[in-house]
Amino acid sequence: MRRNRKTKLVATLGPSSSDPDTLREMFDAGADVFRLNFSHGFHAEFARRVSAIRDLESLVGRPIGILADIQGPKLRLGMIESGSVLVEKEAALRLDLDPDPGDSRRIPLPHPEIFSVLRPGSELMIDDGRVRLRVVRCAGDHAETEVIVGGRLGNHKGVNVPDLVLPISVITEKDRRDVEWALKQGADWIAQSFVQRPEDVAELRALAGEQVKIMVKLEKPSALDCLDEIMEICDGVMVARGDLGVELPPQKVPVIQKSIIRRARQIGKPVVIATHMLDSMVTNPVPTRAEASDVATAVYDGVDAVMLSAESAAGEYPVASVRMMNRIIEEVETDPMYRDILDSQRPAPENTTADAICNGLQRIIGILSSAATVTYTASGSTSLRAARERPDAPILSLTPFSETARHLTIVWGIHAVTVDVAHEGAEFLEVISAATEIAQREMFAQPGQEIVIAAGLPFGISGTTNLIHVARIGPDNAGQQT
Ligand code: PGA
Ligand code: MN
Repeated sequence: MRRNRKTKLVATLGPSSSDPDTLREMFDAGADVFRLNFSHGFHAEFARRVSAIRDLESLVGRPIGILADIQGPKLRLGMIESGSVLVEKEAALRLDLDPDPGDSRRIPLPHPEIFSVLRPGSELMIDDGRVRLRVVRCAGDHAETEVIVGGRLGNHKGVNVPDLVLPISVITEKDRRDVEWALKQGADWIAQSFVQRPEDVAELRALAGEQVKIMVKLEKPSALDCLDEIMEICDGVMVARGDLGVELPPQKVPVIQKSIIRRARQIGKPVVIATHMLDSMVTNPVPTRAEASDVATAVYDGVDAVMLSAESAAGEYPVASVRMMNRIIEEVETDPMYRDILDSQRPAPENTTADAICNGLQRIIGILSSAATVTYTASGSTSLRAARERPDAPILSLTPFSETARHLTIVWGIHAVTVDVAHEGAEFLEVISAATEIAQREMFAQPGQEIVIAAGLPFGISGTTNLIHVARIGPDNAGQQT
């Protein structure tokens, strides 16, 4: 099984999409990675989904990524006396720590850490920004606010505080339990919510270890202020436009999205665009033109993956949403302008052997119109550097580790296969002919076509990528030398 596209597709699982048949249909329609959203649901449900994904993986013979998205410190109002209350523009509203149910004059906000950093002038966004409050006076246990945008406030509505860095760990007790559980279940990636600073990522790394990959969700303005440091220590980023679009004015989101994509491509770590991509497909069998255009724009910008949230998790058309997203990606990728854009935005190689080799790969592919490139990789890092070049041919990534193959499912252009070929002491011809055989078997090349292989001599030693070899697929499958 091979996909005819480079950009990957992440689909969130939920009540609409958790039975094995739907999962299979979603995979066939184009889902490369499944996201488990720990903001909703219980471990028992997640366990069923994980085992269904691993069963599917062995059924289809392809690695499938699991992205465990950890909720983080979602801040919420307390209870309101009659369930909800209308607050009018310009009215005074008090927020405090008193757990008694609230009314139109005061509402509980059970988060002392917010009060400790509020200042007169700070803004609070309630219920995805539908209601906005500005602080007039405050103390350690309460704040007097003015309603800037009025509306109805309900029990436990979400609260965003865009201008503040909260003095809290973004890893809650629930997150700790979820991370531990996700690691035991063999999640490939953990998505970390509401990261505010690089220390938050370091804290998750210390907790989760080196095996699992960390995807930082960029949804706080404070994280954007130290994006370089965050990018340095994480393994990938997600433009989490849901919360980002509450914390920042909407017109800022597309500009920031493009700049994050550019920086992620520069550093060579995967970037995922998330939230509302085909939102109307939650209830409609087709997306709006603007949604189709939104997915296309992300693809033209060279993202690694686009993501479905409610569309696939809780919508009426989970499979149709995947199919639609898949079609949009394929359409863009066959446009010659896509190639022109990728080529014109290619970041310069760094001063390393691996980058020199990967830049060479990309150029050879362009000159020879090669069918595929094969990278031998243990940790996945050579494949990431090859993907950073956005070559005009699929990257067949051969690795001895199924964990590496699964990590790479979210990365642009990579089709990973677990093999035990380039082991220590392997012979040159053996490694080359395995590459040509696998390229044929996986339907990336036919007899007469050329593939470009990157590997490291001596074989089986990590970090030695130092060799490019062009091989023509022979009629006997063996791979002749050229
Ligand atoms: P969420 O994250 O769906 O977990 O809130 C994505 C986003 O905020 O866009
Ligand atoms: Mn979010």
